[in-house]
Amino acid sequence: MANLLIVGPPGAGKGTQAARLAAALQVPAVSTGDIFRQNIKEQTELGKRVTAILDAGEYVPDELTNELVDDRLAQPDAERGYLLDGYPRTAGQVEYLDGVNLRRGEQLDAVVRLIADTDEVVRRLSARALEQGRSDDTEDVIRHRLDVYERETAPLIAIFEERGLVVEVDGIGAVDEVTERILAGLAARGIEA
Ligand code: ADP
Repeated sequence: MANLLIVGPPGAGKGTQAARLAAALQVPAVSTGDIFRQNIKEQTELGKRVTAILDAGEYVPDELTNELVDDRLAQPDAERGYLLDGYPRTAGQVEYLDGVNLRRGEQLDAVVRLIADTDEVVRRLSARALEQGRSDDTEDVIRHRLDVYERETAPLIAIFEERGLVVEVDGIGAVDEVTERILAGLAARGIEA
């Protein structure tokens, strides 16, 4: 049983690490970005509403994002906990998640903060652009996403620091090594794989 967040700038490796941690801790990894991209691919109503927003590197309105997360966390596989990747990203989303946890009679257990400097994340995102062709991985949109992250999301980390929840991990190094660092940091807080 663990309710976890993984936070960090675009390109810090959140998605990669989230999948590994989720498998180790046996909770679902819930990535709002992945859910939006899946909806865009399937051209659902939600997908149609968010396509232009993702392509511009802007944030989807809280109203839509919050409802999506609420629905996802109500699924049976999230009964034993969750690992959220890419949410919450705004002050409104932090507040909303607090409400969801309150209703569950639970709280957040830890917030994994992946640290990677700007040069490294720009390098990684540019490489991913060539491999995966994600429509928001063009140079201009990457820069914009980093700006939006610094402005809207980075300041929220202070809230989790005040709550004593942050496990800071260096995101530079081999994928396995970073996973080991995170698991060690969580184990130190009593969250065991
Ligand atoms: P990255 O790691 O590059 O930030 P994500 O897959 O997490 O990529 O997110 C991709 C895009 O999906 C964001 O730029 C934004 O448009 C949208 N998105 C994802 N999560 C949220 C959220 N919590 N609130 C608003 N928009 C979101």
